[in-house]
Amino acid sequence: MVTSLQQAAGNAAVSRILSGSDAVLASVQRVRIKDVDFDLTTPGEGRRVRAMLDTYDDVADVLRLRADVERTASGDERKKMLEWIDQRIDVLQQARAREERTAKRARDRAEREREAEHVRADRERELKLAAELEDRKQAERARLRQLVLDGEELVGPFRGADGTTPQQDDRVTSLFALALAQVRGRAEPLIRRILSTVHRSRDAHEVESGFTLKVLNGTSLSAASGERAAGIANYAEVTIAVEVPAFLGPSTPLFSHVRSLAQLESVIDQMRKATPELASTLLHELTHLALHRTFDNGSLPYAASGAEEDEDVGDEDAWKATRDAVAELERFGTPAEGADSASASDASDSARAIASRILGYTQRWGESAAQRRATEVVSHLIEIVLAKGMPYVETHLPAGARLLARVEAKLPAPDA
Ligand SMILES: [Zn+2]
Repeated sequence: MVTSLQQAAGNAAVSRILSGSDAVLASVQRVRIKDVDFDLTTPGEGRRVRAMLDTYDDVADVLRLRADVERTASGDERKKMLEWIDQRIDVLQQARAREERTAKRARDRAEREREAEHVRADRERELKLAAELEDRKQAERARLRQLVLDGEELVGPFRGADGTTPQQDDRVTSLFALALAQVRGRAEPLIRRILSTVHRSRDAHEVESGFTLKVLNGTSLSAASGERAAGIANYAEVTIAVEVPAFLGPSTPLFSHVRSLAQLESVIDQMRKATPELASTLLHELTHLALHRTFDNGSLPYAASGAEEDEDVGDEDAWKATRDAVAELERFGTPAEGADSASASDASDSARAIASRILGYTQRWGESAAQRRATEVVSHLIEIVLAKGMPYVETHLPAGARLLARVEAKLPAPDA
């Protein structure tokens, strides 16, 4: 009965029941600590209470005891006991604060470890991505280096700005190698003969005989047509200038500015897209070289007789074939009269765009427009062959196809 009441109402209620009426309560100073009753009127009982207090480790229990003592004890005994109780409360509160600090430190440490683990995982992921990116860059550089080697094997070293040292800028050489690879990739017999002729002359810069190819950067890619096929005895030199496009970044080595796989893909894609125009220009210039080598003149598609200047050449037939091809190309490249949207789309067609450039060659000192266009017609026709294939030229430019057939018969057969 006492125990169940105690559980329900606490020590104060028990004290009240055990001590009978309120009148008696003040003189019966009794408390209960952990099922042990203390009569505070007994001398020395306070010391026992104090010892027992040390077994209380819950502040809430001590606070309840304090309420009991406040209510039941009196005089010096009460004052002393409250002091002890308050000391015990202090001790317990400090212990709790220490425990909380320790727990917080443990929580903080765990949090820091989780954070560090995240950072480690992020770093690992970054390193893995960086390694993957570096691998891809290396693979792409190796692929392009091989194309450069293949290109140099074909036309000789890509020359630097001083004309003697190999071009050190792998961004420029890669673009040229890609363009050259695209030209090489065309199976057209005439293109193969042109490349073969160029190939046989690849060491020309060393012997000053034959042809050499100079690769420069400086002007814009779209204006990369600064050809100069100046005949010096049996030596000719072609300069193709190309400005490094912005997508290749500000410095070498190639892809050094690339920071992600996506960016790498984008740069490779843009290089691919930049290639056809450069390939067209490159083949145009290589054609000049092959013509010069084969016919020993300033790119006329027939053997020089020393009489080009008055257009009275030995090979009347060849001259007529050339003029027919020029006239046909001029017509093909001239926008139809009263051009509407339909012919505008014709004009945007790559073949017509190439053809129309023949109209840009006008008379200059010592040379008529007809003469200039005669030295350009084969190079322009071969660009159309590169863009559209020989069957297209045979269909749309029959006179041009006949002229190309005459040239092809004169060029050496490709090496086996
Ligand atoms: Zn030209």
